[in-house]
Amino acid sequence: MGDITFGTINSILLENIKNVFRKISSAAIRSGRNPFDVRLVAVTKTVDFERIKEASSLGLRIFGENRVQEAGRKIADCKAQCADCDIEWHMIGHLQKNKAKAAVRLFDLIHSIDSFGLAEEVNTCASKENKVQRVLIEVKLSEEETKHGIAKKNLMDLIEAVSGMRNIRLEGLMTIPPFFEDPEMSRPFFRELRELRDKAGTSGHRLPELSMGMTNDYEVAILEGATIVRIGTAIFGERR
Ligand SMILES: *Cc1c(COP(=O)(O)O)cnc(C)c1O
Repeated sequence: MGDITFGTINSILLENIKNVFRKISSAAIRSGRNPFDVRLVAVTKTVDFERIKEASSLGLRIFGENRVQEAGRKIADCKAQCADCDIEWHMIGHLQKNKAKAAVRLFDLIHSIDSFGLAEEVNTCASKENKVQRVLIEVKLSEEETKHGIAKKNLMDLIEAVSGMRNIRLEGLMTIPPFFEDPEMSRPFFRELRELRDKAGTSGHRLPELSMGMTNDYEVAILEGATIVRIGTAIFGERR
């Protein structure tokens, strides 16, 4: 015995999803917002296609991947099995310029524009595909070497440049704070991203989306204004 049946996996997944939605709603209401204004991206890196299918059958509609190659296979499988499923795919990981073309073909929203060069490449690829690519700019708010994102001091220039690109629609900002056990420690980073967004607004750049918050800190992120949370572990369990 000890085998996990399909039904068991499904009910754990369902419980996880219900818990996450409950916490999202509660945090949104506590921050004076409509729970429907916070979108959940279910992060499916390392999660196989069968589980993604289960998650989609339980009502999840936006999936996030951090590697173009891994995503390509899953998205192809997904489209083959369900051409008219109303599912969005988001690129949440660092994007290399040489993967821009594939990313533009695969993703509805790219969260990780972090340089002028990458934005230009995405714009060129999108133009060839006759697509207007929705994007977010990733901002680096910590000193960690491992983190990607545009430096704060260069953000306004990048916003200006990207806003002028015809085949890109800039919808907002994204950040990944350092990991802290205590989610309250992430709060200043989330607040700073919101303030940067508001500042861009005073220069005429309307950036409604704030992609911030992961399993450990998404409630705090919502309290600070997140409109998109990216959650993997709380939904699918620990990654292998
Ligand atoms: C993996 C990942 C997440 C999800 O992390 P969890 O802690 O498992 O919720 C969110 N955002 C990005 C960019 C990721 O790479």
